[in-house]
Amino acid sequence: MDVTIFGSGYVGLVTGACLAEAGNHVVCIDVDPDKIALLNSGGIPIYEPGLEELVSSNHAAGRLVFSTDAAFGVQHGLFQFIAVGTPPDEDGSADLKHVLAVAQTIGQHMDNYRVIVDKSTVPVGTADKVAACVQAALAARNIDVDFDVVSNPEFLKEGAAIEDFMRPDRIIVGTDNPRTAELLRALYAPFNRNHDRVMIMDVRSAELTKYAANAMLATKISFMNELSNIAEAVGADIERVRVGIGSDPRIGYQFIYPGCGYGGSCFPKDVRALAHSARAIGYEAQLLTAVEAVNERQKDLLFQKIHDYYRGELAGRTVAIWGLSFKPNTDDMREASSRRLIEALWQAGAAVRAFDPAAMDETQRLYGDRPDLTLTPDAMSAVAGADALVIVTEWTQFRSPDYAEIKERLTDPVIFDGRNVLDPTQVLAAGLSYISIGRLPKQ
Ligand code: NAD
Repeated sequence: MDVTIFGSGYVGLVTGACLAEAGNHVVCIDVDPDKIALLNSGGIPIYEPGLEELVSSNHAAGRLVFSTDAAFGVQHGLFQFIAVGTPPDEDGSADLKHVLAVAQTIGQHMDNYRVIVDKSTVPVGTADKVAACVQAALAARNIDVDFDVVSNPEFLKEGAAIEDFMRPDRIIVGTDNPRTAELLRALYAPFNRNHDRVMIMDVRSAELTKYAANAMLATKISFMNELSNIAEAVGADIERVRVGIGSDPRIGYQFIYPGCGYGGSCFPKDVRALAHSARAIGYEAQLLTAVEAVNERQKDLLFQKIHDYYRGELAGRTVAIWGLSFKPNTDDMREASSRRLIEALWQAGAAVRAFDPAAMDETQRLYGDRPDLTLTPDAMSAVAGADALVIVTEWTQFRSPDYAEIKERLTDPVIFDGRNVLDPTQVLAAGLSYISIGRLPKQ
């Protein structure tokens, strides 16, 4: 089938590469000429395991084409995917300007029936706005062309995006038109062989499902972070509590890890956008507001712990940081907890030595001009000469470090573990001080 995807970011590129891998002819359109030039020259703009190979083999096979030519894209695909960003507006609402710009472009160039598939995360009612935008552009051309707008939210996780797309938990298709539902079902058939994962529903329910999923996951994290602060205050160990509650199948072990707050391009903005949507119709979503507030406080926690440990004397100190991306296996640093910490440390007069297995280029892009930041080629180099080590992102390679070497390299042998990934017994046995999230200080 012929497919066009607007937006070649984390979602658009993965969607395009996976649909091409299944044999479809895919055109990826982006407004960023540098990104398209990089993709056409065999490069890849993001770090996502397995993506480079998939993009390069399908590009070489001619099934995956990259272009900035929107008119060409609209002419190419029966399916017109919208996978552009929906960043938060100042009031927390989702900014739809990119989504509606694509809708207008489609209306300006389409001459035949098109299925417009909204993959971006958008508030309830956006499909109607997209349809109105397309209709207005068609009216301006004095033509009448049939089209459908489908909500098909994406549930992939950065770091496991290919696997999630190829073997999805569910494929949500929001449409009232049975003919369009069958077209989407056919497009997704290669990813739906084991058992039927396609869920056809009305458009508004599909749009809300995506926000509901992210808000639920964010709620689990904030709940555990709230509990970890209580555990610490009352002298309990949150890791024991976690195992204790996870054994109840109604609760389960997944996604109940305490830490230094959630970040990324989705949870923070989606929780805010859902709360904003509720407020706009006169409903105060108290739980969502609390989820966000708890997360904001948690993102400050590591800095508070470091500040307290040094009794506020941070000026002139150097702090080593392991992990800059908002979670492991990605280079994405949007709303990452590391950024909050680093900026607070600078504010307090401390310098930072940092390492991340994938996000060094992104850190360089964000903070490259800072004299109080040193990016090191590996984890141990970050520790050299630093006062303290802070683990912010739980990359696997940080989980069993050489404690003796860390102790030797640190001026003040202390580790702040923002993700509770280290074994406290081992850290303490190596003669290092250990401060983590909601755990007992001594095991
Ligand atoms: P991104 O910022 O990585 O990519 C968006 C791309 O769209 C950029 O390359 C940008 O240049 C391009 N773009 C902007 N306007 C355009 C236009 N008019 N025409 C063509 N291209 C245009 O964003 P992302 O992380 O891929 O997210 C896209 C959407 O998917 C968002 O709504 C997001 O909430 C949602 N989503 C993201 C994830 C994720 O893990 N990143 C997962 C599920 C859903």
